[in-house]
Amino acid sequence: MSKKIADALLSWYAARRRSLPWRDQPEPYAVWVAEVMAQQTRLESMLPYYERWMARFPNMQTLAAASEQEVLTLWEGLGYYSRARNLHRAAQIVVREYGSWLPESVAGLMKLPGIGRYTAGAIASLAFGVDAAAVDGNAVRVLTRVFNLEDSVGSSALGKQVWARAEALLPEGQAADFNQALMDLGAGLCAPRNPDCAHCPLRDYCEAYALGIQEQRPVRAARQALPQRDFAAVVLERGDAVLIRQRPSEGLLANLWEFPNVEIHNPKRGKAELRREWSPEVEPRKRIQVLEHSYSHFRARLQVYRAQGVLPGEWVPVAELERYPMGKLDRQIAEGLRDALG
Ligand code: SF4
Repeated sequence: MSKKIADALLSWYAARRRSLPWRDQPEPYAVWVAEVMAQQTRLESMLPYYERWMARFPNMQTLAAASEQEVLTLWEGLGYYSRARNLHRAAQIVVREYGSWLPESVAGLMKLPGIGRYTAGAIASLAFGVDAAAVDGNAVRVLTRVFNLEDSVGSSALGKQVWARAEALLPEGQAADFNQALMDLGAGLCAPRNPDCAHCPLRDYCEAYALGIQEQRPVRAARQALPQRDFAAVVLERGDAVLIRQRPSEGLLANLWEFPNVEIHNPKRGKAELRREWSPEVEPRKRIQVLEHSYSHFRARLQVYRAQGVLPGEWVPVAELERYPMGKLDRQIAEGLRDALG
């Protein structure tokens, strides 16, 4: 059965294989960058980022030598900034300690910052032809459906099962194609909603399809509503410049730049809470924006006030703010200011 499933998948993939830069010429550094970027980002959305990144950092050495600020700026928009920081740190280690060559084994790759089992399996199989499985979220969906696995997503029980199933299916010497076929099937036909089972190469083997419960796999634990947190930010102006500051080097959005802000407890009294925090250095004036964004653990609502005064930070002309890496909300403030300039 394993062989039949793998064969069906490989023939389907051979006919539909998408041409992608890191697939056509699977150079280890390119595969690594692509695999890290592709996590939780749709392929179509990540391609422009990938191209921009490779134009600026075409190899391990250029990435290792770059400043963190430039790395974060090029990553901006993809979110999950720790991934960019880990890529950067790992590139420095590889240049310094491994003569600029990525290790070829899964275990060796997993010693580098930010490389987990999936990324290691993808690099080892795609770039070095190692018989290693690589199970991303799309592959999890396919495997839970084909084998009707009932443990919930994120549980260690399901993790163990999907990896064991993927390893058992892996055809010798063809791990690269097999891994990509599994992921492509999950990204396309085997969609979360309305999977196109009529055209699926695994339909004859798929237990969930046979039972008519495809959409009930994978099982997801009930999601907790994200807590809401409120913040107020100030736009301090001096001529054509505004004041921004760098966030701490640890924690959420580490080292990115932001407009000075505080967490507030009563969103109806944003101005008063800003005064309590910073008076007399800062006098908030008009509220100019209310922005919202969901992070992985909370929803943020940010009120933005024009203000007078000064705080520790850096004065940067509005036209140059794009050179400073920022999280999504601060970038929206910066873009609002740039648009207002006309
Ligand atoms: S038959 Fe349907 S549910 Fe099963 S793997 Fe194929 S697309 Fe997914």
